[in-house]
Amino acid sequence: MNLPLNDPSLLKNQGYLNGEWVNGDSGDTFPVFNPATGEEITRVANMGTIDTRRAIDAAKAAMKEWQKKSAKERSTVLRHWYNLIITNQEDLAVIMTSEQGKVLAESRGEVAYGASFIEWFAEEAKRVYGDVIPTPQTDNRAIVIKQPVGVVAAITPWNFPNAMITRKVGPALAAGCAIVIKPAEETPLSALALAKLAQCAGLPAGLLNILPSKNSREIGAEMTGNPFVKKLSFTGSTPVGKALMKRCSDTVKRTSMELGGNAPVIIFDDADLDKAVAGAAASKYRNSGQTCICINRILVQDTIYDAFVEKFAALVKTYKIGNGLDKSSTHGPVVNKTAIGDIQVLVDEALEKGAVAIVGGKPSDQDGYFYEPTILTHVSDSMRVFREEIFGPVAPIFSFSSEQEAIAMANDTEFGLASYIYTRDQGRVWRVSEAIECGMVGVNETAITSEVIPFGGIKESGQGREGSKYGLDDYLEIKYICMGDL
Ligand code: ADP
Repeated sequence: MNLPLNDPSLLKNQGYLNGEWVNGDSGDTFPVFNPATGEEITRVANMGTIDTRRAIDAAKAAMKEWQKKSAKERSTVLRHWYNLIITNQEDLAVIMTSEQGKVLAESRGEVAYGASFIEWFAEEAKRVYGDVIPTPQTDNRAIVIKQPVGVVAAITPWNFPNAMITRKVGPALAAGCAIVIKPAEETPLSALALAKLAQCAGLPAGLLNILPSKNSREIGAEMTGNPFVKKLSFTGSTPVGKALMKRCSDTVKRTSMELGGNAPVIIFDDADLDKAVAGAAASKYRNSGQTCICINRILVQDTIYDAFVEKFAALVKTYKIGNGLDKSSTHGPVVNKTAIGDIQVLVDEALEKGAVAIVGGKPSDQDGYFYEPTILTHVSDSMRVFREEIFGPVAPIFSFSSEQEAIAMANDTEFGLASYIYTRDQGRVWRVSEAIECGMVGVNETAITSEVIPFGGIKESGQGREGSKYGLDDYLEIKYICMGDL
């Protein structure tokens, strides 16, 4: 399948290892599909254990020189890469929409968002400060310096094929580390295009290695078992994250985990209803419901429940699902056929227990992997849509009567990534923001992410923060030096 690219050389189908484009040791390839049409875009090299080991060795060797460079030198290369990503934004967006499905406007937005992590960490690279600590003795001083953690391995998901990579690579390279990445098998092309631009930007060989693969277990086993890997950064599902964390314990690797979510939005009766409807819908249906901070549960105060549902349904009925490359589409497909089945299982279970699908409730008739934007009412906390991450365009709307009840419902989950509240009562803003168990709270706002904020969760949603001034810490070790005999 031909993609409409200005620079067709951005479409790569080999792995990127030690600065070279290579086939895997096995010689196997695997197909990448367009979820809007079901068509095969291309076949990509299928890397395995041996390739992973080679990439880790290359990263280890490349890091030796890279960490000795000044922060300003590292920053200059990153800045150059950022510029190339922005220059090629349109092509990167077309590649992303083709392999992932999101509409082109969202893909353009993600490319800019992804690039912003490279820009941000290019700047932060220069601000890795140490400390001088006053000691109890007069004849010594305590110094603290920060050093790169070592070779980093990263495993990334398909829902943000660009930004989930750059927000790991940016801080890793800025800190002086080298990185080996296994992108999701559904979306390796965005990762490879980024690597091609890094190569053009003059990033030295071995610092960034991309291993497309269908054998995630095999690659994961090498990444978590190899003693030269000092840190694993993972974004994906909670069960896989837990398994990887366990395996990392054998060699005591550092880990950053960005796992599943079950985000509530709590809409109080003093909220600006139109803003709450617009914000909730934007967050719920972004990327067709496939982001880890998408609203999963809409909790509406009973006094405004009917009014909210009416306005929300009117808005959702205006959506037009279709191929993301088509300008008239507001929402794209879900990622694959399995996703359609997984969503339907959750919807059916809710319907069997008494929920009502007032909009949607089934896959769309059109070709490709489309699910109708769906709204469920008459839902309860006994249903799986309350407990599990839906990861699709399905909005269950629950009702509550008091602030205490809303907080209890919001916290009634093992997850703790993002939460949102709509209210104009400033006292309530503080009470609820502090009581809610999660890493990020949006108050009267659901577009909460950017490169400058600390993204991450608590509870079983993970550990560590990506982006912001805190994001570099995950890639740095603290070393204390005692200066004695003064
Ligand atoms: P999602 O539901 O987003 O696909 P996954 O956790 O299954 O979440 O996938 C996220 C990333 O983890 C992908 O790159 C996938 O290939 C990888 N992955 C899945 N299972 C394993 C595993 N057992 N070991 C290592 N990586 C895995």
